[in-house]
Amino acid sequence: MMFSGVPKIFKDRPGFHTPFEKIIIVLGVFSVFLFPVYWLFRDPLLLGAYVISWGLFFFTVWRYGCIRCINFEFPVNRAPAEMRSDFKKKGDPFDISRNEFRVSGSNRCAVLKVKHEFKDFIYWSFVTLVLLFSAGLAIGIHSTEWMIAYIFLIFFHFYILEQRFFCTHCPYYAMSENKVRCMMNWSWPKYFRSRSYPPGKFDLAVTTLGFLVVIFFPLSWLLKEPFLLGAYLVSISIFLLTIWRYECCRCIYFGCPFNKVSAEVRKEFEGQKRFECEFGED
Ligand code: SF4
Ligand code: SF4
Repeated sequence: MMFSGVPKIFKDRPGFHTPFEKIIIVLGVFSVFLFPVYWLFRDPLLLGAYVISWGLFFFTVWRYGCIRCINFEFPVNRAPAEMRSDFKKKGDPFDISRNEFRVSGSNRCAVLKVKHEFKDFIYWSFVTLVLLFSAGLAIGIHSTEWMIAYIFLIFFHFYILEQRFFCTHCPYYAMSENKVRCMMNWSWPKYFRSRSYPPGKFDLAVTTLGFLVVIFFPLSWLLKEPFLLGAYLVSISIFLLTIWRYECCRCIYFGCPFNKVSAEVRKEFEGQKRFECEFGED
């Protein structure tokens, strides 16, 4: 995942890490992290971006990588016990003939995410706030009025327009009682009734249009602030790539055009309603 294509200089060492190896790893990470701090203190904006980037990196790896990594002996590995024992039953962990370990009956992702939790919301709020903060700051530097208009637009799009035309067709929305409880929205009142059928073309058109307006609205101000423009583009890319790679393949909103759950898994889920979150909670 991190060093694809890099030549192997050292031989494989299966088994636990020695205390010496752990110390070297920690020292290496800290020195890489702290090395530029002296220069970063001269520019608070860059320092903030640096700390947030590392935060995003660690949060994402911890959430999506450590939970399904087969380096079980690594101290931060979070793979659940069932996955470890199931994997070990299949033989030597260094004799891997497939690209990804799969639990029987599953496709690319091991399971579907049938319910979101507050920690899912925390992660996605963090990613979203980085994105919105860069845009809001760029607008706010030049015009307070337009920044207020932007905040209003964000709330209008995500909590009214999207909720009405897109979320009402989503199972996570339907499963929430009085307040929405999903990875993107937590505790916002449900204004609209659920619609247990896929969104139509009109729903998708309105939602897409709203998204495009939200994304392009701050561009004229961002173009005057190249650093914030870069932060905005990078955070949008991280948002889209992470959701596409890790969420769309286990999402039960099958009516969403981005859903990547295979027909086979979907059929089984819809027929039996017995999938549960695998790999424990993340
Ligand atoms: S997960 Fe469902 S309810 Fe939540 S924001 Fe996405 S579409 Fe809306
Ligand atoms: S399929 Fe992907 S984009 Fe669509 S609702 Fe699910 S996670 Fe979001």
